[in-house]
Amino acid sequence: MNKSGIINNSTVDPNKILPMRYQWARQHYKDGVANNWTPEEVSMQHDIEQWKSSTVLTAAERRLILWNLGFFSTAESLTANNLVLTVYKHVTNPECRQYLLRQAYEEAVHTDTFIYCCDSLGLNPDEIYNMYEVIPSIKEKDDFVVNLTKSIMNPNFKTDTTENIQRFVHDLIGFYVIMEGIFFYAGFAMMLALKRQNKMVGIGEQFEYIMRDESLHLAFGCDLINVIKAENPEIWTESFQQEIVELIKQAVILEKQYALDACPQGMLGINAQQFAEYVEHITDRRLERIDLPKIYGTKNPFPWMSQSTDLSKEKNFFESRVTEYQTAGSLEW
Ligand code: FE
Ligand code: MN
Repeated sequence: MNKSGIINNSTVDPNKILPMRYQWARQHYKDGVANNWTPEEVSMQHDIEQWKSSTVLTAAERRLILWNLGFFSTAESLTANNLVLTVYKHVTNPECRQYLLRQAYEEAVHTDTFIYCCDSLGLNPDEIYNMYEVIPSIKEKDDFVVNLTKSIMNPNFKTDTTENIQRFVHDLIGFYVIMEGIFFYAGFAMMLALKRQNKMVGIGEQFEYIMRDESLHLAFGCDLINVIKAENPEIWTESFQQEIVELIKQAVILEKQYALDACPQGMLGINAQQFAEYVEHITDRRLERIDLPKIYGTKNPFPWMSQSTDLSKEKNFFESRVTEYQTAGSLEW
């Protein structure tokens, strides 16, 4: 058992961050700080007018906005709780913990975005929260992640054996790759597609900021997973890899179902199937990032989506303010 690595490090004082061993964790922290934003910086005035108007948004568009807020309202809190209550406890390395604190703050900002949207549009929070109960494809996604990550919620869980380290990596893949890397993305694509049609641009911009944060969370999560694998190579067996691949395939089915349910008729210039293709495309990128072979080989139907995370160059061509907050061209995903 590796006792001097990123987890189970009994030889390093968690209160002494210097000297640092994992510079990438430090870099993700700095990139997160460089991306700082708060929802109040984005004006909702135009969105409020469009939301009140009976002619701007179709019934289908209203429905998908509410669905996406419904999923995000519970998913952001779920992520924050998992992070603070489980991941933080087991990742003993100080520079990783510094990043986790930053991430936890960003999740609080995302929850704040939900509050801000409810306040400014006058939405009924109970109705939004209730979607988790009444819309099967939202409930299935949340339940999938909750079930997936049950074992490490056990207060007696320890990452002390090969099997338990596998358990931990399994759950990290549930948190980072599936929840943050797959389950948010059909919603991101829908909200940003609306924004491209000049509809609900305030929420759209907030979703862009959130997506930029999530892409960093995902990058940190994949680096963490890859280092645990490298330091504990005995865990990465053929059968464990197979288990992970099956899990991810299952998640893709749920996310595609969600996409088709939330946007059954498609949107101007986009058919519903393209959201499903987008989910497959991004999933292949996640698999490659954790050294698993891609499954789908699906072409990216929305090349414009990557411009929303690679903000430093492309964003200048649009009137968005997002670049102003990026102090360095530090995001590569
Ligand atoms: Fe988040
Ligand atoms: Mn996140």
